[in-house]
Amino acid sequence: MLVVMQSNATEEQVRAVCQRIESLGLRPHPIPGAARTAIGITGNSGEVDTGALESMAGVVECIAVSKPYKLVSRDVKAENSVVRVPTPSGDVSFGGQAVAIVGGPCAVETRDQVFTIAERIRAAGVRLFRGGAYKPRTSPYSFQGLGEDGLKILAEVREKFGMGIVTEAVDNESLDLVEKYADVIQIGARNMQNFSLLKRAGKARKPVLLKRGMSATLDEFLMAAEYVMSEGNYNVILCERGVRTFSDHTRNTLDLSVIPAVQRLSHLPIVVDPSHGTGRRNKVLPLSRAAVAVGADGILVEVHHDPAHALSDGPQSILPDEFDRLVGEVRAIAAVLGRTLN
Ligand code: PEP
Ligand code: MN
Repeated sequence: MLVVMQSNATEEQVRAVCQRIESLGLRPHPIPGAARTAIGITGNSGEVDTGALESMAGVVECIAVSKPYKLVSRDVKAENSVVRVPTPSGDVSFGGQAVAIVGGPCAVETRDQVFTIAERIRAAGVRLFRGGAYKPRTSPYSFQGLGEDGLKILAEVREKFGMGIVTEAVDNESLDLVEKYADVIQIGARNMQNFSLLKRAGKARKPVLLKRGMSATLDEFLMAAEYVMSEGNYNVILCERGVRTFSDHTRNTLDLSVIPAVQRLSHLPIVVDPSHGTGRRNKVLPLSRAAVAVGADGILVEVHHDPAHALSDGPQSILPDEFDRLVGEVRAIAAVLGRTLN
């Protein structure tokens, strides 16, 4: 259910409607838009008695939202959402006119490794750094990440290079720590349907980068985002990272057609991860170009100065020189679409 407010409705009127929704035992989600504020209602198991709301001051109408996802839907908010990530060198926005780039290694391995790569990412003009301190690995014998020690190294990178940090939380405990040290909380593909983790991320005060599960449909992907938003965190960035198909020339099949499909249904920003999406270093540059051409709001790329010795995802990590080239080409393609780089 959605309560549409008049374009000139006052904050007080919006607040009064929210209070009435709460008094009905439901949860209000005021979503300010360019033309008007809409208030999404969640928590109802059946129909909401709209009579009491429709007669309130400032209300235009109540509409039933027929789609299973509500807060992520364009029905609730027609224009694109812009998710702002504050960094020590200024905000980086996802979903606005500018395309955002996030670069860094798959995993935080050592302080030296992270600093060597971070210096190059920052020198390329990029202000968001990625790197996993908690790694969800297929084998329990593979490198699992440095945990909180890794987060501390990332916090040093933040300090030294002025970059915002994007890093993954794999469970509720790591999410507490990631929320403390990082600027964006990444939820990985394997956890896209970890509903308790999604709910915890929904209570966090930092933006969430939600990766598409490797076999998730578009509806499942959007419902996962709905879990986060339904808990009150509206700063969700979606990320396409490839899905499983029969194709075996790449690790995953990067589903770039999901970008315009998401954009039709949802106001949330969406970025592309061509590293996990292909699993092959030589395909990261072409698919990054394609991602920006198709309308992605950003790209997330794995970079390593010594990929042959990387503790995870070496084969898909590009070298710092290749990252420089990527940034240049992506900037040129963004310009064709009237966009700049963040
Ligand atoms: C990652 O970003 O390093 C990662 C593990 O990604 P995904 O969840 O997409 O596999
Ligand atoms: Mn990786």
